[in-house]
Amino acid sequence: MSKSAGANSQAARILFGLGLGLALGLLAGSFLPEATQPALNWWIDQVIQPAGRLFLRIIFMVVIPLILSAIVIGTMEMGDVRTLGRVGSRALFATVALSATSVAIALGLVNLIQPGHSLPEASRASLVATYAGASQKSIERGSQSQTIATTLLNFIPENPLAEAVNAFNPENKGGGLLAVMVFSLFVGVALTIAPRERTVILRGFFEGMFEVSMVIIGFALRLAPLGVACLGFAVAARLGLDLFRTLGIYVGVVLLGLAIQQFVVYPLALRFFAGRGPLRFFSDAKEAIITAFSTSSSNATLPVALRVAEKNLAIPPRIARFVLTVGASANQNGTALYEGVTVLFLAQVFGVDLSFSQQIVVALMCVMAGIGTAGVPGGSLPLVVGVLLSINVPPDAIAIILGIDRFLDMCRTALNVSGDLVIAAIVANGTPEAEV
Ligand code: ASP
Repeated sequence: MSKSAGANSQAARILFGLGLGLALGLLAGSFLPEATQPALNWWIDQVIQPAGRLFLRIIFMVVIPLILSAIVIGTMEMGDVRTLGRVGSRALFATVALSATSVAIALGLVNLIQPGHSLPEASRASLVATYAGASQKSIERGSQSQTIATTLLNFIPENPLAEAVNAFNPENKGGGLLAVMVFSLFVGVALTIAPRERTVILRGFFEGMFEVSMVIIGFALRLAPLGVACLGFAVAARLGLDLFRTLGIYVGVVLLGLAIQQFVVYPLALRFFAGRGPLRFFSDAKEAIITAFSTSSSNATLPVALRVAEKNLAIPPRIARFVLTVGASANQNGTALYEGVTVLFLAQVFGVDLSFSQQIVVALMCVMAGIGTAGVPGGSLPLVVGVLLSINVPPDAIAIILGIDRFLDMCRTALNVSGDLVIAAIVANGTPEAEV
């Protein structure tokens, strides 16, 4: 069985698990007699939710090693940029600018439309009560003020190990997960500068750590169909039909954000920075975009994207090879946008009010998570869990989103690959082939 067929049947099993859990939960919540409610609650709290959390705990276990290694490797790949001079710096600049735009769109839309607030107050209260503690702690932490200077300084960790250990501890006054990400960024950059022959083992160590983390995430995902069934049951039994409306609005916000980046931001970037007509560009690039949509994997789309860039878009091969290969894992605008919407949406659902500065921190984490996400189906899931944990939004809710994730993954991967091609076109414009 091919990798993509395996991923498809896995996605189908997760969707089936979610459907079953939600349907049974709805039936139990609506039709069981009032007198059985205490017994139902006992079952949900003592058996169903713990069973559902099993796969999440396995993911939590590797969030820190995964983020550390993924960002080191991602930055290392981007850092090799230096050796490519002008091509590299243009690609780096365009990557950061387009990722920032996509996260800004996510923040703007979630604050404007407020999808998480569409849940009626009573339902939210019951949800928060179910996951009591974590979100309350976050609200309290949010109200502890620190000066802007201290907050910014904290992102550069004095002791990265302490930050890694306390990344999910609500009492932690340091920079938390973002500080771990910044540390990884520094290590990645330094690795590109240090002599290669002296750092072979360290590079191999991070690559190995990344591979092992992904294998463990694979174990967790095998349990995911059962997990989402249990968590879906628990949420549906407590929230009833309100949940579906809220989820529908969330999906709408993600799609709207992706559409703005694809149909407004990219065309403007193409017109002004690449000197190309957007309609023609996307029509020539459609084979790569459709492949990305159907495989949900930037990495799997790479060969098609390379062919499209060279043959249809007439991008010089050296530029195409460099920008698209690095971009397949390090430039993921769609993923960064999706992560921003998802994290802020879940924060709203759980009544965690994030201040403006906390939202900026989330935005920075999403930009970095975009660099660290593997270009494979569902690659962003562990990073979303990490960001949720670090702002103390109960990550269990990701189970509901996981059920519809495959469809959103297809859409965001199409944007990720379009973004790589747009950047290649921007870099190619004004870089005479002789200089490359
Ligand atoms: N599937 C995405 C990609 O390959 C990554 C993700 O957002 O999960 O680009």
